Amino acid sequence: MAGRNFLFVPGPTNVPDRVLRAMHLAMVDHRSSSFPALASAVFDGLKQVLRTTTGQPFIFPASGTGAWEAALSNTLSPGDRVLVARFGMFSHLWIDMAQRLGLTADVLETEWGEGAPIERYHEALAADKSHQIKAVLFTHNETATGVTSDVAAMRRALDEARHPALLMVDGVSSIASIDFRMDEWGVDLAITGSQKGLMLPAGLGIVGASQKALAQYDQAKLPRVFFDFGDMRKANATGYFPYTPSLPLLYGLRESLAMLREEGLDNVFARHHRLAGGVRAAVKAWGLELCARAPKWHSDTVSAIMVPEGFNGADVIDVAFRRYNLALGAGLARMSGKLFRIGHLGDLNELMLLGAIAGAEMAMRDVGIKVTLGSGVAAAAEHYRGSAAPIPGRSLPAPPAGAKPAAAGAR
Ligand code: PLP
Repeated sequence: MAGRNFLFVPGPTNVPDRVLRAMHLAMVDHRSSSFPALASAVFDGLKQVLRTTTGQPFIFPASGTGAWEAALSNTLSPGDRVLVARFGMFSHLWIDMAQRLGLTADVLETEWGEGAPIERYHEALAADKSHQIKAVLFTHNETATGVTSDVAAMRRALDEARHPALLMVDGVSSIASIDFRMDEWGVDLAITGSQKGLMLPAGLGIVGASQKALAQYDQAKLPRVFFDFGDMRKANATGYFPYTPSLPLLYGLRESLAMLREEGLDNVFARHHRLAGGVRAAVKAWGLELCARAPKWHSDTVSAIMVPEGFNGADVIDVAFRRYNLALGAGLARMSGKLFRIGHLGDLNELMLLGAIAGAEMAMRDVGIKVTLGSGVAAAAEHYRGSAAPIPGRSLPAPPAGAKPAAAGAR
């Protein structure tokens, strides 16, 4: 098929050509004297992305799910209580993992489409005078519903309740795309995977651990072998890994971290915000609703778009893929059929988004949803027009004297 596949699922995301080239290297000996230079480059870069100077990043040949398990199993013991909200497929799966590992989950059931219920977290923590709750599990960006929650507010709730529980944050679809500050927000375990904001194939499970989390390691009695922080720390301290690392992914990670550094993390976040704003403008122009119930929860990495009653989101996704070579995200679990998702994270720009929005509206029309062709594209284009920063090295010409500013969509 001619042309590119339009990959607009919220992970895996597009792998930039530069990263693909960086991964396309012959294998070398991961026990050679040159390997530690690669290891230290990726650990340093990850600390910058996590915004931590005191925490320690871990890299496992796994995915986000493995990183969840590493965070839990290295810091907790069988029967320990964890406090966690369920408000989408990924928070649900993390709870399921905690329970299957033998932890006791105090679950705050929350409407799917709402953010993490900070006040209810606070109440439960304040009521737990004997500090039985050992960890708070918090999904920063619920990818299933396109909802971002407030990690800083969660930290404040813990501090106000004077509760010592560890703060574990799932940042799988936020880290490297949405503002994330491990040290400032007192995040004890920051969890992510390689295939989203880090613009790599899936295959790395990444955890940033605070000194407080590392101090729990000796008391934590959950079994762990592959994900053992102790083995990792010992090997990493010498510049190596306890078992065979994925060299291509590490080469790729070194390159993607360099790209993030060159663009500047704050610019990366601003770009995601701008791109997401265009998608939200398109959804409004279509007369549709987001699954996220309030603007404060709107995610800058994924928009979950409700299809009208009587239609199936899976049909939109199927037609988009078969006819237009556009991959959209599905509705998961109880959202199955009710929505489709546009992932807008990673290596993307305005014109790519306009293509995806055009494909989504064509697919919606094809299945009979009454949206006006071009309406979403026009709304997004109006949002983007003039608001994108000039590409580095290509400064804009000065506007003619007396011209009105063009930045209608500028923030
Ligand atoms: N957490 C969130 C928020 C996710 O979006 C995902 C995957 O999409 C996961 C966890 C699980 O990660 P993985 O599929 O890399 O195991």
